[in-house]
Amino acid sequence: MELKIIKSKIGNAKITQIVECDINESMPIILPSATPDEMKKIEWLKPPYRTEDYLMNADSQAFFVELNGRLFVVDTCVGNEKNITGFDGFNNLNLPFLEAIAKAGFDRHKVTDVICTHLHFDHVGWNTYKEEGEWKPTFPNAKYHFAKEEYDYWRNEGKSVELLGPIEAISFNESIDPVVAAGLVNLIDMDSDLGDGISVKPSPGHSKGHINIHFNAGNETFIIAGDMCHHPCQIARTDWAAIIDYDAKESSATRREILGQLSGTDTLVTCTHFTSPSFGKISGNESKGFVFNAIDKTDK
Ligand SMILES: [Zn+2]
Repeated sequence: MELKIIKSKIGNAKITQIVECDINESMPIILPSATPDEMKKIEWLKPPYRTEDYLMNADSQAFFVELNGRLFVVDTCVGNEKNITGFDGFNNLNLPFLEAIAKAGFDRHKVTDVICTHLHFDHVGWNTYKEEGEWKPTFPNAKYHFAKEEYDYWRNEGKSVELLGPIEAISFNESIDPVVAAGLVNLIDMDSDLGDGISVKPSPGHSKGHINIHFNAGNETFIIAGDMCHHPCQIARTDWAAIIDYDAKESSATRREILGQLSGTDTLVTCTHFTSPSFGKISGNESKGFVFNAIDKTDK
């Protein structure tokens, strides 16, 4: 089995998506408002973002971004051999992700920066891998940037949250603590400049310290917006919240505010689970509904 590798260019950035697996079957659980009948009403929403039967398609994937001499990995999927009870489809995966990194032309030792938009288990998994029974950093020479707000939340009160709390406790143990112990973690403010045209901005709601990653790639700019939306349908329906949102009202307000800022601009945006072609521009407004205008930037 081979993992899907998708290469794109935006401005002077090279982007490589490594798709760990699809999460199609989980989507109706994550976004229960997006029933086929409701999806039908979003006229611009076409395959591959949905099936012919109006079911959502979505992926677990990592974005490798080469820009201005640095190699970023944004969000690191679920990972192999992780203990994810309660989301059994993701438990104890055994997928050739490390092989796919090499196949995509990368040396994982040369990754300079890892950024997790938030610390849910499906965005931190490949922070580490298991070798001889021990969790080791997958990117041993990178700085791992996490929002301090997010880290503190899951380190403390988040562990008592129903459903996600116990999973996050294990996830910290397997995917966060080992990179902290290795001295690789840089806790950042939710509004931070990481240099070389890369910055992060707050997008709270799905999680307490959720951040979007902004890339200034010369003549084009783009944003990887984590789980601000799980699926493009939430661009049309900013009121559709995910079942595991930290604060559903705040997640909706964040979508309205940020999509309003992006509408009519040339900035390309994607969210971590958007299937390829993943990037698009935003048009429309809150009253008539925002629109995701996909633009295929993949290498042909
Ligand atoms: Zn996610």
